[in-house]
Amino acid sequence: TRINSALDVRSQFPAIENWHYLDSAATAQKPQVVIDAITTAYARDYATVHRGVYERSAAMTASYEAARAAASGLIGGQPNEVVFTRGATEAINLVARSLPKEGRNRVLLSQLEHHSNIVPWQLAGYEVDAVPLTVDGRINLDAAEAMISEEHRVVAFAHVSNVLGSILDTKRAAEIAHSKGALLLLDGCQAVPRIPVDVASIGCDFYAYSGHKLYGPTGIGCLWGRYDLLNALPPWQGGGSMIDRVTFAKTTYLDAPMRFEAGTPHIVGAVGLNAAVNWVEGLTLDAVHAHECALVAECRAALSGVGGVTLYGPEDSAGIVSFNVDGVHPHDTATILDDVGVAVRAGHHCAQPLMDVLGVPATARASFAAHSDSSDIEALVRGIEQVKRIFG
Ligand code: PMP
Repeated sequence: TRINSALDVRSQFPAIENWHYLDSAATAQKPQVVIDAITTAYARDYATVHRGVYERSAAMTASYEAARAAASGLIGGQPNEVVFTRGATEAINLVARSLPKEGRNRVLLSQLEHHSNIVPWQLAGYEVDAVPLTVDGRINLDAAEAMISEEHRVVAFAHVSNVLGSILDTKRAAEIAHSKGALLLLDGCQAVPRIPVDVASIGCDFYAYSGHKLYGPTGIGCLWGRYDLLNALPPWQGGGSMIDRVTFAKTTYLDAPMRFEAGTPHIVGAVGLNAAVNWVEGLTLDAVHAHECALVAECRAALSGVGGVTLYGPEDSAGIVSFNVDGVHPHDTATILDDVGVAVRAGHHCAQPLMDVLGVPATARASFAAHSDSSDIEALVRGIEQVKRIFG
């Protein structure tokens, strides 16, 4: 079946006119409402937050805090449970650096993690154990159950894989982590723009995501944490806005989340993120997910039909299809696709350990968004046929 943009939002994205953008997993294009919100914030409403006594600063503070409530509400959290960070990367670094180890020196990750959910733990001095994958590219939770021990402080998994699109059984992951007293951190970068998320029903302890993959601006993301846990963590960066009282002898800190937001924050980033959250909530994530599932099915069928294309990941991937044209380096594939106006990512996707597991140096990856439609897949297939002719 041909999906002629069931969501019908393509015209709201000014930057993809006459372009087949299939790299939304790297970063999402922005709908006009988000661009307008950012422009208005600078052109009409701009002032600092949390300090000014004048009215415009108070209004900007209210917008900034409204954005926090929206960003947390989107994933089922409370307003004070979200720390604004630069992105998911910084959110995971915050937890890795701040969380007291309490005598547990290991973290349990999986073989499909993004480097941003591997390297922060290594830098923080943890020993890493990596759960293997099932044949169709999911985190093998039977294996995780066998591997978890009381030495693990944290279990940290991608909610949706940025390479394979596989969706984690998050409730089971939470049960496994908690069975040995470990905390569960979910890297929700690819999940939040693609599927409904509810941290309360998952039962996770931390959840990280980036605004720019959710149709919002770069430079802003969220760390959600259960409030008691978040408020027990020590600060990790010092400066203005995060203190209660400073003297040369001793400084005390504000409660979470402010304790973790040293310095002037990304004010307009928050405003843009709020607009993005509203926009996507207007579509509903159920509808976005259904739309992307249909596109994945169409794309996998079309690429299989071409022949000589290897597909990775499960059939029910959330909006992401990694593939290789047999005998062709994915960089060559992506370069030829670029010539015909199709943008895909080619490389290791910041998941080098996963490439080792797949036994390939790299893959090409087509990833969808709310604006994607069958014309993108048709262009992709025409491009792949061209690749095969050139390298045939
Ligand atoms: N985790 C996953 C699964 C991702 O896809 C990405 C972005 N590619 C990140 C983490 C890092 O996000 P950011 O670069 O926005 O901090």
